[in-house]
Order: sequence, then C-alpha cells, then structure tokens
Amino acid sequence: MSLPSSLDERLAAQQAAFQAAGAPSADVRRHRLDRLLALLFEHAETFAAALAADFGTRSRTASILTEMVGVASTIEYSRKNVARWMRPRRPATAARFLGLSAEVQPTPKGVVGIIGPWNFPLNLVVLPAADAFAAGNRVMIKMSELTPRTTDAFAQTAPKYFDAVELDVVVGDVEVAQQFASLPFDHLFFTGSPAVGRHIHRAASANLVPVTLELGGKNPVVVGPKADIARSASRVARSRLVNGGQTCLCPDYVLVPSHAVENFCRATVSAIRDILPSILGNEDMCSSINDANYERVIALVEDAQSKGADVISVAPPHEQLPDSERRVIAPTLVTNVDSSMRITCEEIFGPVLVVMGYEHNDEAIDYINRRPSPLIAYWYGPDDEEFRHFVTSTRSGSVSRNDFALHMSLPQVPFGGVGHSGMGAYHGRAGFDTFSHQRPVVGSELPFSITSIAAPPFSRAKVAAGDLWVRSIRRRARRRIDRFER
Ligand code: NAD
Repeated sequence: MSLPSSLDERLAAQQAAFQAAGAPSADVRRHRLDRLLALLFEHAETFAAALAADFGTRSRTASILTEMVGVASTIEYSRKNVARWMRPRRPATAARFLGLSAEVQPTPKGVVGIIGPWNFPLNLVVLPAADAFAAGNRVMIKMSELTPRTTDAFAQTAPKYFDAVELDVVVGDVEVAQQFASLPFDHLFFTGSPAVGRHIHRAASANLVPVTLELGGKNPVVVGPKADIARSASRVARSRLVNGGQTCLCPDYVLVPSHAVENFCRATVSAIRDILPSILGNEDMCSSINDANYERVIALVEDAQSKGADVISVAPPHEQLPDSERRVIAPTLVTNVDSSMRITCEEIFGPVLVVMGYEHNDEAIDYINRRPSPLIAYWYGPDDEEFRHFVTSTRSGSVSRNDFALHMSLPQVPFGGVGHSGMGAYHGRAGFDTFSHQRPVVGSELPFSITSIAAPPFSRAKVAAGDLWVRSIRRRARRRIDRFER
C-alpha cells in the first residue's frame, strides 16, 4: 500500500486502518510480535554494522546482546501472555445476581507514537513498539537523527515485515521530531533527556495526548557499610562501562563509607585495567557518539579539576587519551567533588564515575534525596535492615542491589522512572497496561433504574434516605479516625 507523505496524513492513515479493523485478535498481535522479532534477528548483522558505523567503535557482540537478544525475552514473554492479559476482568458487584453485569475490557488506544534516543537506538524503539502491539495498537516511530545509519537500516527493513499502516518508521532531523511530537497520537512514548521530555510533554498536552516519558538523570550507588569493597568496585566499574557509559541506567556517582574511599578507588582502577587492558583500537570500549558528547564529558571533568577535584584517569600505559579522532575517553574516577562542580549536577553519560565518602547511611540517603529522583538507585551489601531503610527512605524508578539494572532482565517487572526520571512504565504487562484503555462495559437487567435514585423528583423518602447515609457514613469515618489516632 502506498502512503501519503506528510506526517499527519501518515497518522490519519494508521488511525483509519485501526478504526476499520477494530481491536485485533490475540493471533494478530502475536503475529506482529513475531514479525518484529524476525525484522530484528533476520537483519542482525546489518543492524550491528550500522550501529558500529554510527558510534565509530561499538562491539558487534554488545550490539547483538543489548539491542536484540536483550529485547527478545520481553517480547517472547508478552507473546506468551497476551491472550490472558486481553481477557476482560469481571468485578464482583453486589447487584450481579439481580441483573447488573460489569466487565472491564483492556482496549487498544489506537496509534502510538514512539520517539527514541541514540544510545540504544533499536532496543528503545522496538521494546515500546512490542508492548504497543501486544496491547493491539498500531505504531509510528521516530528514531534519533544521531544514529542515521541505524535509523535508515531500520526504516528500510521495516516495510518488508509490516504494512505502513501497522508500523511506520519516520526518518528526519530534530525539526521532524518536533512535528512528530505535536501529532494527535492516541499515546506518545518518549525516551530521552529530561530537557527534551519537557518539550514533548508540552507538545502532547496541546492535543491532550497521554504520554509516557522515559528520562535520564544521575543514578546513585551506595556501597553499604557491610559491602565487599573489591566485589562492589568491580561490578560498579563494569556497569559504568556499558556502552561507554552512555546508558541511562549507568551508575553516575558512588557513595562509599569515608574510611573505604581510597580502597574502593584502588579496586575500581584495578577492575578497569582487567576489563580494558587496552582501549585505543579495542572495540570493547564504545566511543562517544559524536564530538559534542565527547567534548561535553571532557569539559565536565576539566571543570571539576579546575575547582579542586582529584581526577584519576585509567588510561593504559603508552596510550594517549582522550583521543579526539576516535572520540575515546579513558575511564576516569573523580573524587573530592563539591556542589559548585557541574559534574555533581549534570548527568555524566560517559565513562566517568564520581566517588564520594559518607559517614552515616542517613548522610548518603539525604544526599540522594536532595537531588531529582533518579531512574535507578543502587545498593551494594546484604539485604538487611540498612538496605530496607535505604529503599523506604529514597525515591527512584527502581532499586538494584549488588548488580547492574537487574530488572532489565526480568520481563515480569515494570521499567520506568519517577519525578525527573520519567512518568509511566513499560516492559511486558506494564507496557500492555500503559498502551491499553481499561474500558468498563456495564449493563442492567434490574427491574428499576439506578439513576432514579439520584434524579428528580426528590421525594420525602429520598430525602430521608440521603440524610441517613450522611449520618451513618459520617459516624463510620469519625470512628475509624479516632481509632487510628488513639
Ligand atoms: P534527547 O532528549 O536529546 O533526544 C531524544 C529524541 O528526542 C531524539 O530522537 C531527538 O530527535 C528527539 N528530540 C530532540 N529534540 C526534540 C524536540 N524539541 N521535540 C521533539 N523531539 C525532540 O536524548 P538523547 O541525547 O538521544 O539520549 C540521551 C538521554 O536519554 C539521556 O538523558 C539518557 O539518560 C536518556 N535515556 C533514558 C532512557 C530511559 O529508559 N529512561 C533510556 C535511554 C536514554
């Protein structure tokens, strides 16, 4: 089917197709999920090559694991469960036996718009698309202009698997992204920075489009008092190096008991040297996506250093880093920071880790709570009272103990931020719910109309019944309040 080219015509074509076909069956939804998997996996090499070319240096295996294998388990999980999730819920109503029927049907919203970032350009559009398909929607995607080869490869491959009224991939620059965000979608799903998230929210509100915002921020790690320092350092180092530090879930700063800061830094440096015996020409070290990001990260470190921070660059011997041609920065630790330094306020999004000391757990908790809520908060140490206190006293999209973003590998668990790190959630059932409208379908075979209770005329009997309700509900509420406050 050939499509009109303007964005609103493309959306109108999808919406018309959605209305004509109605809510798809479980079979159609599963077929779409299978085609999405086939699209990714039958072209895995093409996508891995496009990603490597877009980043400059990015390992094929990293791309296969994070962009493809990493999404498959969630898609398979949705595929397996979608028929069950689609079933209407029948709440037990007191009047059911007299003839009042009630069910709540999860219904697709219509057309979902998805805007993705550059750091995992496939994963972060394919997963929301899969959730939207599972919920019975159609999908339009705008990928990042900073990964043009990957975007083109996806846009050219998608039509082999999907009619454009099912899945339509839009290619273009930021101006196109702005137009895309202002379309009257039935839901708009955005992954990116909090700054752009504000624009998206504003654009969507003009059309009353519901939004899900998956945003970034500064993720804290607390190395608890009972943590194994060497093990924590080695895991934090690995986490910081995922995608060259350009991951929304990467640890951004680490709070370590003051007496253990030196030990922690030493163990982190040693772990980095083990992971990356060489960096230049080593495709295990993902490069910065572009000059702007490369220079921004270097400037954050230089700003901190100029204001008195200590900087430990873990460049292998005989390698000159940073390397502007290949946009490679050595993994770096920054200590002795204070709040005047930009590195303590801005998301780092590169292979640089800030390490700070704390005296008491509550000092660490207080530091986190005085800042915008992160996407994830890490804790290293046993699942004890101190950890539980940390969980109840802080706010974040998720908590991961003793490892990197564990919830990503569990399709049963929602993924999403809170406050400045986002709103709404997806992955599996959470995504199905996000992209569904819970629609009550209620009917009556009762011999009287329930409406007649609240509609005129207001007879003496209705006045008396109303007064009785007021008195008894008032008494009940007061009794419960008094019991609680005693
Ligand atoms: P970004 O916000 O700069 O761009 C994201 C997308 O928005 C791009 O496709 C871009 O074309 C589009 N865009 C830019 N300006 C726009 C505008 N005015 N109107 C509409 N669309 C616009 O983010 P980025 O640099 O691509 O990604 C990095 C950020 O994303 C980091 O903050 C990171 O933490 C965050 N992130 C969050 C998650 C998550 O799941 N929460 C995942 C990955 C990245």
